[in-house]
Amino acid sequence: MSLPDGWEMVVGLEVHTELLTASKLFCGCENRFGEEPNTHVCPVCLGLPGSLPVLNRQAVELAMRIGAALHCTIAPSTFHRKNYFYPDQSKDYQISQYDLPINSRGYLDLPDGSRIGIERAHLEEDTGKTTHLSSGGRLQGAERSLVDYNRCGVPLVEIVSAPDIRSSAQAREYAAELRDILVATGASDGRLEEGSVRFDANVSVRRPGEPFGTRCEIKNLNSLRSLQRAIDYEALRQIELLEEGGVVRQETRHWDEGLGETSTLRVKEDAEDYRYFRDPDLVDLAPDPVWIDTVRHSLPPMPAERRAELRALFVDLTSAQGDAVDTVVELGLERFVHAVASAGGDVAIALSRTANEIAGALEDLPRLPEATFVEVVAMESAGEVSATQAKSLLGALLAGEDTDPRRLAQAKGFEQMAEGALRSLVEELISTHPDEWARYRDGDDKLAQFFIGQVMRRTKGQANGKAVVEELNARR
Ligand code: ADP
Ligand code: MG
Ligand code: ZN
Repeated sequence: MSLPDGWEMVVGLEVHTELLTASKLFCGCENRFGEEPNTHVCPVCLGLPGSLPVLNRQAVELAMRIGAALHCTIAPSTFHRKNYFYPDQSKDYQISQYDLPINSRGYLDLPDGSRIGIERAHLEEDTGKTTHLSSGGRLQGAERSLVDYNRCGVPLVEIVSAPDIRSSAQAREYAAELRDILVATGASDGRLEEGSVRFDANVSVRRPGEPFGTRCEIKNLNSLRSLQRAIDYEALRQIELLEEGGVVRQETRHWDEGLGETSTLRVKEDAEDYRYFRDPDLVDLAPDPVWIDTVRHSLPPMPAERRAELRALFVDLTSAQGDAVDTVVELGLERFVHAVASAGGDVAIALSRTANEIAGALEDLPRLPEATFVEVVAMESAGEVSATQAKSLLGALLAGEDTDPRRLAQAKGFEQMAEGALRSLVEELISTHPDEWARYRDGDDKLAQFFIGQVMRRTKGQANGKAVVEELNARR
């Protein structure tokens, strides 16, 4: 979507990610999603009198991994209380980091080459979860609301971008890349649908060259699609308002996915409203420089580098292959393509089978050792089996039908087709289609497609296109 002429949007994202720790941020309660409500709670995360928080070392380490991946300065930091009433946060304050966050001033490079600044990436605790019993799940009109404190005190890192984003598509790219980086660090499972990663979008508009306008913050967007749609809607709303002579009020807005609209949630509060003060129960956090260094050096390659490594296996990458590379890296499946490359196999086949057949059966991956995949790709590139057959072999291997691709191919009768049966079928087609055959023999290569199509129809896709061409050429 493009904005009306003479307008530009300015966007900064705040991204909350839950950390993959064993326990919560300040207590020993298990950090697990999807459990029976209120079964992972204790006096600390319920904020009962006399309880005291103790900082989780693993959460600090994961936060530092995120900071390192985003090229941040990792520095001594402190914890503050952010005071506000929240029914799913019984302490009535959230422990967060304020003026001294653990990570600050980093950046994230997008695949298109643009660089988005990271202002900070700080540690804080999550709130519980309220479910309103009403038709739309909104508080308004609800007869009752239920509170689950299991999520209360779960460690979060909030990553705040600089207002460097200039379109909703770029915001989406940033969010997707950040999500993949978070997964790569091991800090997050990246599951948007489970709320492990959530987005708030700050949106303002201006005429290019003018100072930034007043921003509105859209809360709790939990898919890339809603993020993009909400930003577009909000920018257009503000432009319309300004063009009619109105002013944008700084406020927090809610995105209604069904209506495709944002609406006022509350007029924006300022930092002063939260009455931030140092949490007297927690000491300063000053990670040992050796520890910080160890964390920086223990990071695995990030998605950008992994994509570059895969692309380097190809001389000319088609745009479909470019997309396949993105998919394979996003799902962390590159080892399959690299295994084929090191065995000297056909990487184009490997990439395509990985981005499709393997990507479609992620739960079954343990059934497919890389060596087995290398063998299937070798069978396909040697013409022992057709592409369709190779796909079906992979499906059967992933489904656990057998572990040996050659035995499987034999059991399915794939190998026979590749030999004698194909030869006689091609001979039969040549004699029943003399005109097409004559044109092919006279040099019209396009007719190969005709014969391949006929063979595929007769064999229900079980033949190998390359083998068909070889049979044709042997008679040319
Ligand atoms: P708050 O706590 O008020 O949400 P933060 O500092 O946590 O403030 O986040 C501010 C976010 O708003 C950042 O992502 C920043 O990039 C973004 N932002 C700041 N000014 C603007 C603006 N004029 N237009 C759009 N986004 C902005
Ligand atoms: Mg904020
Ligand atoms: Zn607890």
